[in-house]
Amino acid sequence: MSEPQLREPVPATAHDTARSELERLATDLVADRADAWDLAGELPRDLLRELGGKGLLAAQVPAAYGGPGLTGVENGELTAHVGSLCSSVRSVMTSQGMAAWTVQRFGDEEQKTACLSALTSGRLAGVAFSEPGAGSDLAAMATTIRRDGDTVVVDGRKVWVTVGAYADLLVVFGRYGAGAAAVVVPADAPGVTVERVADPLGCRAAGHAGIRLDGVRLPADSLLGGAGLPTDWLVTSALTYGRISVAWGCVGMLRACLRAACGHAATREQFGAPLAEHQLVARHLAELHVAQEAATRCCEYASRCWDEGDPRLVTAAVTAKHLAAGQATRGAATAVQVMASAGARDGGPVARAYRDAKLMEIIEGSNEISQLLLGKHALAVWS
Ligand code: FAD
Repeated sequence: MSEPQLREPVPATAHDTARSELERLATDLVADRADAWDLAGELPRDLLRELGGKGLLAAQVPAAYGGPGLTGVENGELTAHVGSLCSSVRSVMTSQGMAAWTVQRFGDEEQKTACLSALTSGRLAGVAFSEPGAGSDLAAMATTIRRDGDTVVVDGRKVWVTVGAYADLLVVFGRYGAGAAAVVVPADAPGVTVERVADPLGCRAAGHAGIRLDGVRLPADSLLGGAGLPTDWLVTSALTYGRISVAWGCVGMLRACLRAACGHAATREQFGAPLAEHQLVARHLAELHVAQEAATRCCEYASRCWDEGDPRLVTAAVTAKHLAAGQATRGAATAVQVMASAGARDGGPVARAYRDAKLMEIIEGSNEISQLLLGKHALAVWS
C-alpha cells in the first residue's frame, strides 16, 4: 500500500553515499553465499580482508585512520544491512568494530595510528573478555596482565571469542593490579594458542574460538590506556559499542525474516487463497512488522545517544540490545511458522535467523543481566 507523501525528502549527504556504497559492496560480496558459509562453518578470509580493507568492518573509524568515519546511526543501518545478509559476517563486523572502538577510546595517538590503520586495511580483530569462570560475571576474570620492565606479560584463558579463528589481533581484557586493563595481542605471538569452538548453534561461520595465553610477552606499548580502572568501567565502553551493533544486527535479521515471510505468504496458496489473506497469518506478518519497527526505533535512539555523547547512552544500548534480541528471537520463530515446511530445513535466511537470533539473547550481556541492569535503572529513575 503506498502512503501519501507529506513532505519533501531530505537530500542525501556524503556519509549516506559512503554508506550505500558499503551496502552495495556487502550485497555483491555476500550475494547468495551465506547459507553455504553457515553449513561449512567458515567464512572466506579474503572476503573478510576485502570488507575490512574497504572500512566496512569498523565503519566508525575516522578518515584520519583510514576508515569511512560513519556516524553511529549510519554505522547502525550498515550493520543491519549486513545482518540481513549474513549474521556471521555481521558478528565479525561487531567484533572488529568493538576492537577498533576500544583502541579509539583508550589508545594513545601512536596506538591508534598503528592499530586502526591495520583494522581498516584488512587485518582482523576479536575482543576477548569471557573465560571459563567468568561469563556474566566479568569481575571474576582470572587472566592477568602485568608490566615487567619494558614489556607486558599476559596469562590466562579466554572462551568463545568471535573472529578468534580468523583474527590477526586480539584485544584481551584481564586483571591489572587491583583493576583491569586491555592489551592488544598479535594472534601469532609466542604463547598464544587458538582452538576453534566446534559446531556453534548459530552464527556458525563467525570463527568463535577459545584462546590460551601462556606467558605472552609483548612490548609495553601493547597496553592500552585506562589500565588499572575498575573492570566494569573498562568493559562497559567496549560492550556499549557491541550492544548497539548486535541490536542493529537483530534489526537486519528481522528485515530478512519479513522479506522471506511476506514473499512466501503473498505467493503460496492454501484453501484457495494466498496465505497472507488468512487473518491469522496476516497477524504474524503484522507482528513481525511491529517487531522490526520497534527494534529499529530503539536502535536509532541508542545510536543518536552515541552520536550526541548523550549520558543516557549506556542504558539506551542495553535497552536496544535487549529489545532487539528478544524481538529477533520471537520474530524468527514467527517467520518459521509462516513458512512452515518451507522454513523448516537448514538453508535460507529464516532458518539461519532462528538459530542466530537466539544467541543474541546471550551475548554482550544475557537477557537476565540486561534485565538486572534495566531494573536498577528503572528503580533509580522511577521510584
Ligand atoms: P553464565 O554466566 O554461566 O550464565 C548462565 C545463565 O545464568 C544465563 O542465562 C545468565 O543470564 C544467567 N545468570 C548468570 N548470572 C546471573 C544473575 N546474577 N542473575 C540472573 N541470571 C544470571 N565472549 C567474548 O569475550 N568475546 C566474544 O567475542 C564472544 N562472542 C560470543 C559469541 C557467541 C555466539 C556466544 C554464545 C558467546 C560469546 N561470548 C564472547 C561469550 C559470552 O559473552 C558469554 O557466553 C555470556 O557473557 C554469558 O556467559 P556464560 O555463557 O558463561 O553464561
